[in-house]
Amino acid sequence: MEILSNYINAKWVGSKETGTIDVVNPATQEVLAKVPYGAGTATDVDKAAVAAAEAYKQWSQLPVMKRVQPLYKLKQLLEANAEDIARTITLECGKSLAESRGEIQRAIENVEVACGTPMLIQSEFSENIAGGVDEFMIRQPLGVCACISPFNFPGMIPFWFIPYAIATGNTYILKPSEKVPLTMMKVFKLIEQIGLPEGVINLVHGGKETVDALLDHPEIKAISFVGSSKIARYVYGRGAANGKRVQAQGGAKNPVVVLPDADIDMSVQIITDSVYGCAGQRCLAASNIITVGDNGTIKEALYESAKKRTTGFGLDESNEMGPVISKESKARVESLIAQAESEGAKVLLDGRKAAITGFENGNFIKPTILEGLPLNGEVIKTEIFGPVMSLIQLSTVDEALDFINNGHYGNMACLFTNSGANARKFRSLANAGNIGINIGVAAPMAQFPFSGWKESFFGDLHGQGRHAIEFFTQTKIVIERWPKEWARKF
Ligand code: NAD
Repeated sequence: MEILSNYINAKWVGSKETGTIDVVNPATQEVLAKVPYGAGTATDVDKAAVAAAEAYKQWSQLPVMKRVQPLYKLKQLLEANAEDIARTITLECGKSLAESRGEIQRAIENVEVACGTPMLIQSEFSENIAGGVDEFMIRQPLGVCACISPFNFPGMIPFWFIPYAIATGNTYILKPSEKVPLTMMKVFKLIEQIGLPEGVINLVHGGKETVDALLDHPEIKAISFVGSSKIARYVYGRGAANGKRVQAQGGAKNPVVVLPDADIDMSVQIITDSVYGCAGQRCLAASNIITVGDNGTIKEALYESAKKRTTGFGLDESNEMGPVISKESKARVESLIAQAESEGAKVLLDGRKAAITGFENGNFIKPTILEGLPLNGEVIKTEIFGPVMSLIQLSTVDEALDFINNGHYGNMACLFTNSGANARKFRSLANAGNIGINIGVAAPMAQFPFSGWKESFFGDLHGQGRHAIEFFTQTKIVIERWPKEWARKF
């Protein structure tokens, strides 16, 4: 069984750590590879940081137009290899092939936006702020930066950061999730071919100890983290205490409000896709579906739509939903459904005990619908991260807004309505960083920041778009005096 290598200074090298954990196909339990895991990975981090710091000296001085050229090559290679990468995502992460293809597309779009860095990095200039004095701002890179990514989008999330970081002149270390490291192994085989100097991009495998080594290493100047809120808070605190710039995107519990004037057919289709897409393992998955007023028709329609959803092995294209990531995750989701029952909820549709022929060992849970969760219970505010919808009935838009704004997450809030005035009120007053109006997954395109709020984000500048350019650069102000009397007369 292959033990995965790190990619350091443009070479594939074995880890100093001999301990490993298994990378497991969640649909079959087949072990796909072994990934280095343990305290010895701190030595790997050190090697990568030293290589990246050395590479930074030349890379940061290269003109920005030259720094983006490898990204054009990367875009072409990603496009040419998209199907192969998508299949790897499905094998190690479980999602359907269509979802994996969509994920790669989102990664490519970030490369495209980062190719605009020569424009995006331009700054401000004020002529003559005093007699013969000009003032301007330049953006310079930070140094070595690192990304710690989660399991649920192994192909996309590193791209919220890497292309922007290197285009702005930084060098980089990626630590993928130890649950799904194979996708980035494939991507780094492409990165090898794009003509980057040694040490500009590095890949180090591992888990907690690897993360801690990244957070503590003095050469590393900035950390981008995406994962659960508990770890996001920890990474933000430890990284900041070590003087690093940190952006840490966390978990979510996304509310969707449906008003009586919403288009039922369209809303039902979109909401079902949002709740059950990626088996609910999305930080932008709808979770609490709040109907305002009578909910009879929509409840029925959501039930029928959820029940129809096909669940099974992601590489079989007839399946719309794959397994959850691990046995532990399946057990956790099922125990949250049981907890909901004990809190007084009714299980309208029960996806536990899903039997998928030929995949009896897979971590499958079929679409589940809960109704009647108490507003002051635990499950209603817990990120389930599985294919579970909770139906909540409230009386007014204001009650729905109160419910949303009392929640401790703020990743996304959506409204389904025909009324522009209600939509306008909602987008203005809902305390969440990504708002959808008649949209179920308000995922910002690459040119916009991924704007989580509250416990869904720790930091100031988010991933993607202009925020990424700002995160990966520090501003320098220059004030220059050139008295006109000094001008030579020629
Ligand atoms: P996770 O927090 O368990 O792991 C994320 C990363 O942190 C991994 O690389 C892991 O190795 C590392 N890690 C885990 N435990 C650690 C510890 N104790 N100390 C230091 N590092 C540790 O998250 P996950 O289960 O991989 O991903 C799912 C979570 O990510 C969900 O909560 C989801 O909402 C969130 N997520 C958020 C966004 C967003 O943009 N806000 C996007 C995707 C996923």
